[in-house]
Amino acid sequence: MFSNKEMFKQALVEKLKTNFGKKVETASEYDTYRALGALVKDEITKKWMETEERYQKDQTKQVYYFSMEFLMGRLLGNNLLNMNLLELVQDGLEDLGLSLDSLEENENDAGLGNGGLGRLAACFLDSLASLNLAGHGYGMRYRYGMFDQHIIDGKQVELPDEWLSKDFIWEVRRPEDAIEVKYEGYVDFKEDSSGNWKFEYVDYEKIRAVPYDVPIVGYNNETVNTLRLWSAEATTEDIMVRAKRKNEMGYFLNHRRALESVSEFLYPDDSTEEGRRLRLKQEYFLVSAGVQSIIQSFEKTGLPWSAFSDKTAIHINDTHPALVIPELMRILVDEKGLGWDQAWEITQSVVSYTNHTTLSEALESWPVNTVRTLLPRLFMIIEEINERFCQALWKTYPGDFDRIANLAIVADGQVKMAHLSIVGSHSINGVAKLHTEILKKREMKSFYETFPSKFNNKTNGITHRRWLMHANKPLSNLITEAIGDQWMNEPDRLKDLLKKKEDLSFLDRLDDVKQNNKIALADWVKETQGITVDPQSIFDVHIKRLHGYKRQLLNALHIMHLYNELKADPTLDMVPRTFFFGAKAASGYYFAKKVIQLINRIAAVINKDDEVNDKIKVVFLPNYSVSTAEKIIPASNVSEQISTASKEASGTGNMKFMMNGALTIGTMDGANVEIHDLVGDENIYTFGLSSEEVLEYYRTGGYSSKQVSDQDERLRHTLEQLIHYSPFSKGEMDFQPIYEALINHNDEYFVLKDFADYVMAQRKVSQDYQNKRLWNAKSLVNIAQSGHFSSDRTIQEYASQIWNIERVQMLK
Ligand SMILES: *Cc1c(COP(=O)(O)O)cnc(C)c1O
Repeated sequence: MFSNKEMFKQALVEKLKTNFGKKVETASEYDTYRALGALVKDEITKKWMETEERYQKDQTKQVYYFSMEFLMGRLLGNNLLNMNLLELVQDGLEDLGLSLDSLEENENDAGLGNGGLGRLAACFLDSLASLNLAGHGYGMRYRYGMFDQHIIDGKQVELPDEWLSKDFIWEVRRPEDAIEVKYEGYVDFKEDSSGNWKFEYVDYEKIRAVPYDVPIVGYNNETVNTLRLWSAEATTEDIMVRAKRKNEMGYFLNHRRALESVSEFLYPDDSTEEGRRLRLKQEYFLVSAGVQSIIQSFEKTGLPWSAFSDKTAIHINDTHPALVIPELMRILVDEKGLGWDQAWEITQSVVSYTNHTTLSEALESWPVNTVRTLLPRLFMIIEEINERFCQALWKTYPGDFDRIANLAIVADGQVKMAHLSIVGSHSINGVAKLHTEILKKREMKSFYETFPSKFNNKTNGITHRRWLMHANKPLSNLITEAIGDQWMNEPDRLKDLLKKKEDLSFLDRLDDVKQNNKIALADWVKETQGITVDPQSIFDVHIKRLHGYKRQLLNALHIMHLYNELKADPTLDMVPRTFFFGAKAASGYYFAKKVIQLINRIAAVINKDDEVNDKIKVVFLPNYSVSTAEKIIPASNVSEQISTASKEASGTGNMKFMMNGALTIGTMDGANVEIHDLVGDENIYTFGLSSEEVLEYYRTGGYSSKQVSDQDERLRHTLEQLIHYSPFSKGEMDFQPIYEALINHNDEYFVLKDFADYVMAQRKVSQDYQNKRLWNAKSLVNIAQSGHFSSDRTIQEYASQIWNIERVQMLK
């Protein structure tokens, strides 16, 4: 039906009529969006079934990527792109007087993640399918995803994300594949007829896990993989029995609510671990439903258990799904009757683990009591794994109690999920070279000494399809005009752009593309925020979760300082700049919310001050999400990647900006280091302490923030404006906590220490920007070198070095 434009138009008209009883002229945009989506999904479904059949027939090894978060964003545009239907549909819609861009606005973001970790999972799915790899996502179908952020009176207000208030048109509910997940109760021992001990799990509570499958379309190929999202439902018969026993229907309703709360909402925090029982319940829910369903499909192949690890790989995205290790052991030993040693060998060779952080507050651990009462059988298995591991250590390091206590999985009344993940898997990877080195040399040194061959690096990536081909079509077209379209399948070929580095007319066209994107962003900002910004100014962008270590505060203090300079000398020659921020703060993160308030205050002061606002403007864009990122990044000149060195494991925002031609101002942290290596000193603005210096300060002390501020008049003045009367404080004490963190608590993230260097780097940015040709050439080098950060490269490395899978050969 989609082979040409006329057929598409006819099909759309037909779909509107049969599904919604509407004509094109009378249908709402939402109806049209759904009709279009239904048409596209019909096409996808054919390939989806074929892919599934092919995998079964060939008994292809399957990879299951377990993640508590998948930050998918919208799917319509990306599905059209990957199905190679974009142009046809765009043209057809135009004929009908419709615009694809505005239809896309009718889709809610699937915001089932917090930030980088969840977005990485989404990019990986796109690359797996696009590389013809048999890899699927397993996640949670939260009823409420990442909260909606509003700014009211300059402060963050969180509203529930009702993303399912509109149909999620891409999902397919599969009740026939539902799985029972069991909690609480206790474990009985029984001797069977042959004298073996058997475990029987009794008096448990059960929750039905119902999968909703979302097709993941590969780019321009025959592969459609699956993102399987699990939803919690109460099993009615079970509740009815209990309700009758208790003789009340109120019990029925309350109990159902309690059970279904397991997939009710996403914990809206990254970087700090949420030690709540419901969170552990969620983690086990995903793990148990997922592992059971994997085992069921393996059993359909009729192969022996010895073949399981040849046919299956399970990857855990951080430690949140680490319970796959004891859960797989439980099923293999208790239910399938394997011996411990065989089950353990299988488990280790199936499971691999990605570490995402060295922040100690983010490392997951659970009180022994919580695990024991919620998951009694799993806890026994964890203890057994721990016992055997510690005994093995004792043999290698006899008498070294300290080392063994340090490495133990269960210690100090806690179950340490990172330790469980390392011991129970065959591969542990960091997410950027620097991060992996810090893991090996410091944070996980003892584990690295124990299992050196398990550790490896896989530098993160982003899908160039969503973040360049879809988000920035004008740039994508310009690139193709210059170097052909091979880069779309082989992003490394973007390097061919380097030959245009001195081509002045090409650089002008690159500039035009950026300029038009900036005008489009300016229009959108005007429309949605009522703020007028100058598209000729430098668009300087800082968008990411709000966290102390990401140092939005450093950027804010710098802007206050610029304001002070301009007020002191209104004739000061300053290259006009617009500072954009987008950031959500975790609801309980008091300091982060104060920083949001400060940025909004700075914006309010500067934007209405006619003496300065033709030189600087500040825009806080509320509700930063995947679809806002897609609007902002193509229009940016400067990418703010200014974390305290050693703290940002990789970053992926940095890669999206680079690919869209923004220049990075950044610390030598995470993947910034690798960006620097690729583009060279002259095409990036680095500043600040190195990770060694930061780690050295943490270890030995010797930093005094007070001293730094006392010796820098600019800082002293700016900090006083936080607590004394100033346009920013308005005489209130709102920003006292920020002052205290910086001065009384000695500035944990070295904001003041790096201030002077940051100011200098920003001056260099302004100078360089004035030389358009120079700037555009730098921008071109960044785009040209960004192919390395395609998640296709990352996933190819995971596939060959961790999962041991190959691209499926298609006979076509
Ligand atoms: C890419 C992305 C992130 C991660 O950004 P970092 O700068 O790497 O922290 C977070 N949120 C959204 C919506 C993203 O698209």
